[in-house]
Amino acid sequence: MTMPVILPTGHARHDPDAVIGSTAGGRPYFEKPSRVAAFLTAVEAAGLVPRPVGPGQAGAIETVHPEDYRRFLETAFDRWRAAPARAKDVAVRAHAFAVRHADRPSQDIAGQAGWYLAGHGAPVLEHTWLCAVDSAQAAIQAAALVAEGAPRAYALCRPPGHHAYADLAGGFCFLNNAAIAVETLRGRGFGRVAVLDIDVHHGNGTQHIFYERDDVLFVSLHSDPNTLYPFYAGYADETGQGRGQGWTLNLPLPPGSGNAAWLAGLETGIARIAASGAEALVVSLGFDAQAGDPTANQAVDAEAFKVAGRWIADLERPVLLVQEGGYLVEKLAANLSAFLAGFLPADATPSSKDAAR
Ligand SMILES: [Zn+2]
Repeated sequence: MTMPVILPTGHARHDPDAVIGSTAGGRPYFEKPSRVAAFLTAVEAAGLVPRPVGPGQAGAIETVHPEDYRRFLETAFDRWRAAPARAKDVAVRAHAFAVRHADRPSQDIAGQAGWYLAGHGAPVLEHTWLCAVDSAQAAIQAAALVAEGAPRAYALCRPPGHHAYADLAGGFCFLNNAAIAVETLRGRGFGRVAVLDIDVHHGNGTQHIFYERDDVLFVSLHSDPNTLYPFYAGYADETGQGRGQGWTLNLPLPPGSGNAAWLAGLETGIARIAASGAEALVVSLGFDAQAGDPTANQAVDAEAFKVAGRWIADLERPVLLVQEGGYLVEKLAANLSAFLAGFLPADATPSSKDAAR
């Protein structure tokens, strides 16, 4: 049995590094199209054939993200360039952000840029909206396959999604693909759905979207936000609110954690999911816990990702993989290959069939 892989084929049109280079602070834009090429190397090595994302209904995108936010992302680039002084700009980038005491929305595009964009990690380029929608559609279409009976599917999403709140972009993310996948599964008959976020950065957007819900369990294994983006969420004492109390589990790790500490944390998260009654699992699949990742501070390697793949498969419920981060491009193929080696059953790939003969 193979695994469907859904690919947003036009993703490279969103490439901030190519048009604006370093963002404020002199830091390269690490979320590059070359990441997908690296992942595809592993997909093809596993004998899997990616399918291009097809056109689709907005569906769960509208469930997760309100109309004002979608309209902002869709129109921001043209509205920004409508001012003569900005007619040659290649990106919408706020110069003032709506933080803490600033909580009055503005009708001006520059004001809205600071309202809907949480930082310089989420510049809106000419094709950003269409790429974000395609990425979300990959999650929707992969989720639909799971709803139709596929035991597992992989949405090779780019741009990633887990830092996007319902109405706030940030950290390379515009639409929350994992949350959209959850809502797709919920809308297709699944009861409780669990999210396991193993990206090294806390999935602050996903957590916030489901924080008051008891039909979605959110488990995140990540670097201590006292030491790493997103800084302002992801602490162990954030456990949910109202009906959602007890349905968020944060497992922050000290910086520099290696495979043993990472897997110990993951074991706790897996046990929570196993006990949750979740009927399906969405994995926010990041590989930026890898030692040397330029955006992070952990010391994990491919061996741990292989174990993670096996433990996730051992949960024995439908699993949708949603690609999130991973920025040490030269390690991404090996990391995804290792994960798939643990995750896919022995008969899933042609090469393993050959080996079994
Ligand atoms: Zn990340």
